[in-house]
Amino acid sequence: MSSTTVDEVVTRARDVARDVARVHADSVDRESRFPIEAVDAMREAGLLGAIVPRELDGGGARLPELASAVRVMAGECASSALVLAMHLIEAFNLVRHGHTDALREVTARVGRGEMLLANANSEVGSGGDVSRSKSFLGGDASPWTWEKDCLAISYGSHANALLSMARRSESAPETDMVYALVERADYELEPTSAWDTMGLRGTCSRGYRVSARVREELVFPVPFSSVANDGAGQMRQLILSAAWVGLAEAAVGRAHAFVRAAARKAIGTVPPGALRVSEMAGDVQACRALLETAANRLDLLREEGSLENGPMTIQLRNLKVTTSKLAAKVATGALEVTGIIGYKREGPFSVERIVRDAHGGLVMVSNDRFLHDNAQFLLVAKEI
Ligand SMILES: Cc1cc2nc3c(=O)[nH]c(=O)nc-3n(C[C@H](O)[C@H](O)[C@H](O)COP(=O)(O)OP(=O)(O)OC[C@H]3O[C@@H](n4cnc5c(N)ncnc54)[C@H](O)[C@@H]3O)c2cc1C
Repeated sequence: MSSTTVDEVVTRARDVARDVARVHADSVDRESRFPIEAVDAMREAGLLGAIVPRELDGGGARLPELASAVRVMAGECASSALVLAMHLIEAFNLVRHGHTDALREVTARVGRGEMLLANANSEVGSGGDVSRSKSFLGGDASPWTWEKDCLAISYGSHANALLSMARRSESAPETDMVYALVERADYELEPTSAWDTMGLRGTCSRGYRVSARVREELVFPVPFSSVANDGAGQMRQLILSAAWVGLAEAAVGRAHAFVRAAARKAIGTVPPGALRVSEMAGDVQACRALLETAANRLDLLREEGSLENGPMTIQLRNLKVTTSKLAAKVATGALEVTGIIGYKREGPFSVERIVRDAHGGLVMVSNDRFLHDNAQFLLVAKEI
């Protein structure tokens, strides 16, 4: 991908979304299976390595282009988009904080599209709270032993490597954590829960008990708190929001097509759903603009240095809350416009998968958790 321009990232994502993800989206959803065809096509198109700098064999793409890539993918298959998004979050962490020779070597493999990265942060018992962990690095020397009861690891059995936080040692306080990468040969996964969900079924986010050997050289050279506060959290909010905006666009797109078809059948009349579509279009355009603004701003901050920026963090949490709520609202609105035709699983105006997937955004880390974090910050902030 090293010879491509950044705009090509979006074009390539659009091609993969239209030609591959769309074709397999229904079977991915019905069978609750990993979207292997779309992920292979993304790898082939250089999307898995797009975030890695060119000097490390990647595409050197900017955050706005990557957000657009996830957005257009979500318009066809939300599960494929989320696999891309979750992989990009971990690739971003590697690029930003993986400053050891061994981690740099892995980053270059990501740049060449050889790796699919998954995350194993959330733990049974603490859910979306990533500020602490029960798991720890054990033993006397590298490779350390590491065991974790993970609440969910998306596409865990398809990834080439897992990234996760763990306490530095058995005696370390639960907030004193490192971030580490473990390659496939160094871990075993024992499934502990199924993934038979309402939506986002292709993410295959089962619970697993992980047993791993952690190599010293693949432990990030900064504490997990630095990874989380200086990039990982911000990138996660941004890139997952892109998926929720893409789902909202897909929903309003179906409703729009439906009212246009109705208008063609009764020339000179305005179908009753048109007013609702017009209102939804405004909401979707506003969210798309919020996403683009946040992506550009985060990219600028990334170039300047630290991402530990209170107002930006608040803005990104709000972006996630706003876009995920909007996706669910617009999907339901599209169902009301399309009626029984949209309620059916088949047909060009079906919105049933979109409605189910869009509700995943509300729980893929609870909005209440982010609103609560923001509420705490706003108590001391002088301006909003
Ligand atoms: C599709 C999907 C894919 C996922 N993939 C992964 C993955 O690859 N890796 C991974 O590690 N995890 C993954 N997860 C798990 C995810 O990151 C969260 O851990 C999980 O959704 C639980 O987070 P939570 O905050 O909703 O739940 P909990 O922390 O269990 O909270 C449950 C409920 O309690 C309330 N609550 C909790 N804390 C607060 C608070 N501070 N303020 C207000 N209310 C609160 C909220 O109402 C919340 O819904 C995935 C989840 C989904 C849905």
